[in-house]
Amino acid sequence: MNYDIVVVGSGFFGLTIAERCANELGLKVLVIDKRDHIGGNAYSETDPVTGIEVHTYGAHLFHTSNERVWRYVNRFTSFTPYVHHVYTTHDGVVYPMPINLGTINQFFHASYTPDEARALIAEQAGELAGQDPQNLNDKGISLIGRPLYEAFIKDYTGKQWQTDPKDLPASVISRLPVRYTYDNRYFNDTYEGLPTHGYTAWLETMVDSPDIDVLLSTDFFDESQPYHRAALVGRVPIVYTGPIDRYFDYSAGALAWRTIDFTTEYPETGDFQGTAVMNYPDLDRDYTRIIEPRHFHPERDYPADKTVIMKEYSRFAEEGDEPYYPVGTPEDRRRLLAYRDLAAREEGVVFGGRLGTYQYLDMHAAIGSALSVVDNVIVPHVRDGVP
Ligand code: UDP
Repeated sequence: MNYDIVVVGSGFFGLTIAERCANELGLKVLVIDKRDHIGGNAYSETDPVTGIEVHTYGAHLFHTSNERVWRYVNRFTSFTPYVHHVYTTHDGVVYPMPINLGTINQFFHASYTPDEARALIAEQAGELAGQDPQNLNDKGISLIGRPLYEAFIKDYTGKQWQTDPKDLPASVISRLPVRYTYDNRYFNDTYEGLPTHGYTAWLETMVDSPDIDVLLSTDFFDESQPYHRAALVGRVPIVYTGPIDRYFDYSAGALAWRTIDFTTEYPETGDFQGTAVMNYPDLDRDYTRIIEPRHFHPERDYPADKTVIMKEYSRFAEEGDEPYYPVGTPEDRRRLLAYRDLAAREEGVVFGGRLGTYQYLDMHAAIGSALSVVDNVIVPHVRDGVP
């Protein structure tokens, strides 16, 4: 084996590990990925009909408040000043998301001040106001009250998860801010933007090192290729970013994931919806949202007479589907604990990334967690031989 470390999976977690190991620690790194491209779900490509950059696995918006992560990512790409905004069409009317004073006043045909709106929502949250609820349903109602919850969250969540919101973790909805101002930025973070030359250019720059080899279309579990599990584990340190349940042959049961099907359409117009993301929280449509990727890069010279849109349909992932969102029901969380125990005992293997930890991780969180693994696990291992 000519490598000091093998990274399984080339999403942001895996690539950050690979890049640091090669360029900071001088290690020889092999990255394998079962797909035929790097980048995991952050990968993007040029749409062949319109020339517009499309995020192949769904919209990816980069944002972070972590200074270290922001400095780190700027070594590989610059960022445009893009600021994400989302709108939502409920009952034939378009509202700004996340829920803010504009949404509240439009919904109630009112002109509440921030204090008045707070008082109203507290009243509508009823007995749940001010509590610290543990599931999505209770959390949603306590944050925005029942009428807004039922209009904008309940059925969207039903389409997105097909799981009783009482069984979903509160953290799913806590990602969305609620604001009593007219600020309708989607994210609260200090830094935000899209990679100037696209995600794939950024990802490629990360692995552009003589000390990193990348093998694509190479499945860690496929014993017909030389870099498979049995050939590697125990012989070379491994960073594994695939599904944690798959690694342990589903011995504690399969963890539930949601996957997304996209349908691509080419409306004959230079602007289909006037914004990058339009959510559809009502049950009159099966899809959850429509993405129009041209709006991610208003600075680019895209065709004025055509556009591309993608509709997103969410469903449970089955064998062979791409896992996107960990569901995280109480049953899943019990299984995850069993896998975490197994993972802790698996010598020489570090589990990371969205799939490897069964956690919804934003890109910046995956990168930040990989930097911590380098500091806390890999550097001590290289320096002191700590296993
Ligand atoms: N959500 C909702 N209505 C919306 C947007 C989001 O109910 O218009 C809920 C839904 O349960 C979703 C979660 O909030 O899964 C998180 O939304 P986010 O936009 O962060 O999801 P992502 O972009 O990661 O799919």
